[in-house]
Amino acid sequence: MSEMSRLRPGDTIGILGGGQLGRMLAQSAASLGLKTHVLCPDPDSPAFEVCTTFTVAAYDDMEALDLFAGSVGVVTYEFENVPGETAAYLDARVPVRPGARALEIAQDRLFEKRFLSGAGVPIARFAEIASQADLETALADFGGKGVLKTRRFGYDGKGQQMIRTPADAAGAFDRLGAVPAVLEDLVSFDCEVSVIAARDVNGDTACYDLARNHHEDHILKTSTVPAGVSRETAHAARSMAERIVSGLDYVGVMGVEMFLVKDATGEKLLVNEIAPRVHNSGHWTQDACLCSQFDQHVRAVAGWPLGTAERHSDAVMENLIGADVDGWEAVLADPSARLHLYGKSQTRAGRKMGHVNRISTRISAQVSAKTG
Ligand code: AMP
Repeated sequence: MSEMSRLRPGDTIGILGGGQLGRMLAQSAASLGLKTHVLCPDPDSPAFEVCTTFTVAAYDDMEALDLFAGSVGVVTYEFENVPGETAAYLDARVPVRPGARALEIAQDRLFEKRFLSGAGVPIARFAEIASQADLETALADFGGKGVLKTRRFGYDGKGQQMIRTPADAAGAFDRLGAVPAVLEDLVSFDCEVSVIAARDVNGDTACYDLARNHHEDHILKTSTVPAGVSRETAHAARSMAERIVSGLDYVGVMGVEMFLVKDATGEKLLVNEIAPRVHNSGHWTQDACLCSQFDQHVRAVAGWPLGTAERHSDAVMENLIGADVDGWEAVLADPSARLHLYGKSQTRAGRKMGHVNRISTRISAQVSAKTG
C-alpha cells in the first residue's frame, strides 16, 4: 500500500450521504483525529451537524465532485445506491473505499446472487426474471411460491412481492413495474440474523458476533446479541462473511443479512443480501465492543489496521422509529440504556430517529476473533 492511500491524523475522509450512518461515521472519525467532508443533496442532513465540512450538491454535480475529491484523502459512502458514474468519477481522483466492485454487486440482486453462489456462499434458489412468462416458468419450478424482487433499488421490503397463490402471480411482473427482477424461493426461516464484517487494505478481516434481528413493518426494530444460535452456526456465519469480503477484495465494513433455517437436520444459514457499508444491525457494537463498526470502518478506509471485533457485553439495540423518539426521557431513566439520537428536526412515521443500546454483563461464550 502506498503512503498516499494511508491517512494521517488531521487528514480528511469524504463521505457520500449525510444520514445517520454518515453522522456516526463522522463522529467516529473525529474521535480518531480525522476530519470529514460530507456531500449530500439534502440541506437538512443529520451528518452536517457533526462533520468538519459539508457540501450540499447532487451526486452527479461534477463541479462539486471535483472540489470534494480535491479536499479529501479517501472517499467512502453511507448508502449503496451511489451512482456508478459518481463512484467512477471520484475513483479517478482519489481512492474510493469500499471499491466499485462492491457497489456494482450490491446494487443488483442478480449480480449479488451470482457472486455469492460463485463464492460458495449458500443462498436461496433464484431465477432471473425479465417478463411475466419468465415468472410463470420459474414459479412452475418453485412450487408456485416465491418472492419476486426488483434487481435494483429495493430496500426494507420495497420493490418486492410475495407470491403464494396463482392470484398473487397473475400480473405480478407488471405490478412490480415491469423492470428486471429475480424470483427467490420463499424461505421458511426461523429468524433473521446478520454479521458485520470488516476488511482492511492488507486483507486482514474481523467479524463481530452474529446478531438476531427482529423487523416490524419491514423496518429493523431490534438486534440482539448473542443471537442464541449454535457455535457451529456462529462459526459458519463468520466464515461466509469472511469469504464475501475477501472475494470482493473489500476495504471497510459490510453488513451481511442472513436467514436462519431450522429443519430436522439442524440449523442452516442462507445469505439474503449484503450491504457495502456500516449497517443498522451493527449499532450495538457502539456500546458492547471496544471498537464499534463505525470506528472499524473509519480505520479500514483510512488504510489503518482493524481494531478488535470482540464483544465485552451482551446487548439489545432498539431502533427509535417515528414517534418512538418521544420516549427519550424514559430511556434516559434506565441507567443501563445508552441513547443515541440523530438530531433529525422532523419526526415522521417510519423514519429512523435514533436508537437505544441496552447493555448487560456478557453471559455467552461466543467469541469474535480477528483473523489474518
Ligand atoms: P430484503 O429487501 O431482501 O431485505 O427483504 C425484506 C424482508 O422480506 C426480509 O427481511 C424478509 O423478512 C422478507 N424476505 C425477503 N426475501 C425472502 C425470501 N426469499 N423468503 C422469505 N422471506 C423473504
